[in-house]
Amino acid sequence: APVFTLNFDCSSLGCDCESSNCLSIRDHPCIAWSGLSKSIPVLLFFPEAAVSKDGNICSIGERYRMAFKIVRTESRLVRGLLTNHGFHEVHPNSNDFNLMWTGSHLKPYILRSLQDFQKVNHFPRSYELTRKDRLYKNIQRMQQTHGFKNFHIVPQTFVLPSEFQEFCNCFAKDKGPWIIKPVASSRGRGIYLVSNPNQISMDENILVSRYINNPLLIDEFKFDVRLYVLVTSYDPLLIYVYEEGLARFATVKYDRTSKNIKNTFMHLTNYSVNKKSSDYVSCDDPEVEDYGNKWSMSAVLRYLKQEGKDTTLLMRQVEDLVIKAVLSAELQIATACKMFVPHKTNCFELYGFDVLIDSNLKPWLLEVNLSPSLACDAPLDLKIKASMIADMFSLVGECRNKRCLYNSVCIRE
Ligand code: ADP
Repeated sequence: APVFTLNFDCSSLGCDCESSNCLSIRDHPCIAWSGLSKSIPVLLFFPEAAVSKDGNICSIGERYRMAFKIVRTESRLVRGLLTNHGFHEVHPNSNDFNLMWTGSHLKPYILRSLQDFQKVNHFPRSYELTRKDRLYKNIQRMQQTHGFKNFHIVPQTFVLPSEFQEFCNCFAKDKGPWIIKPVASSRGRGIYLVSNPNQISMDENILVSRYINNPLLIDEFKFDVRLYVLVTSYDPLLIYVYEEGLARFATVKYDRTSKNIKNTFMHLTNYSVNKKSSDYVSCDDPEVEDYGNKWSMSAVLRYLKQEGKDTTLLMRQVEDLVIKAVLSAELQIATACKMFVPHKTNCFELYGFDVLIDSNLKPWLLEVNLSPSLACDAPLDLKIKASMIADMFSLVGECRNKRCLYNSVCIRE
């Protein structure tokens, strides 16, 4: 029995109920029927369960003795959702689990030991996408083999110190500003802008990227968009893009001149950076999606549409960018899966894509996050993330419910 796909033969799952009794799951809200003759029961997840317990919803996980473990991370959202669907939490060292939710990459020996009904939330070598330097190198390779124009989805980037000379040659033609980032950092840490190579501190391995200095502004503020991308398989490649996302706004109005390049509240849109600003405005009402420094992506799209922008084309380009980024790491990850992952259905992964839209409405990929934040500081976070995670769990159990917001953008045998 693959995880979340309930085997109707209860006894093989160690279920001690009478099988006639089990027929009651026919009409259970957490069960959908799949397969040609609609005979395979699969588990449906409800976002409401992230915060409240309902005996009926809980009964299914309990009946089938579903188990999960959380390793090297903390997620109230994931724990709440699974627990309230009747999943039982086991110790991080236990092997008796259906689902392992971990904050870091998995060691090959752990992957090799997975049984067919077990799932983990990472693929091996996902860092080919989620490390900024690897992502850029992989996309650069695609630019060389498939045409620069077709893969011009990331700002030009150099890895320092090794490519310092190339950077200086490029700088001679384009004086910037340029943006400096540590290779494997996150949340805006260690990021700054420079207008001259001699302002770069070379203590660690860093990236220097062309700064997109014409971001699309809303009310004069810069923003970027966090998109959620689910990959359920690399071979065949199955990519889903979640329809809803979050737009994160800077807290200081944007100034195109390079006078204020030191002001991170103007140039960086990370929540972790801007929440420290006294100008950060949060919103307490989950129904209001276009107020303060965090909006829903759909609210941004509605706003842009009203301004006469072609948001359909924009979202098509965003999907195109997602597919191309994943394709650039596909071979390495699929090869690692062949080497380390015993069963096709063992791995899935939710990536956080950070996208910046420029004033020409061109989306740029800034980075791909390995474990996108599931923190719910504002009610809007909970509203979006609870549905996004519930739909994800339904989908990895191969269940697509009617209100599922994941759109399949790539299915390739
Ligand atoms: P981190 O992993 O630390 O969040 P990012 O690459 O996402 O690093 O960059 C942090 C923020 O800096 C982004 O959210 C964006 O606002 C800004 N930024 C990053 N790269 C660029 C760029 N090339 N042009 C313009 N702004 C950028």
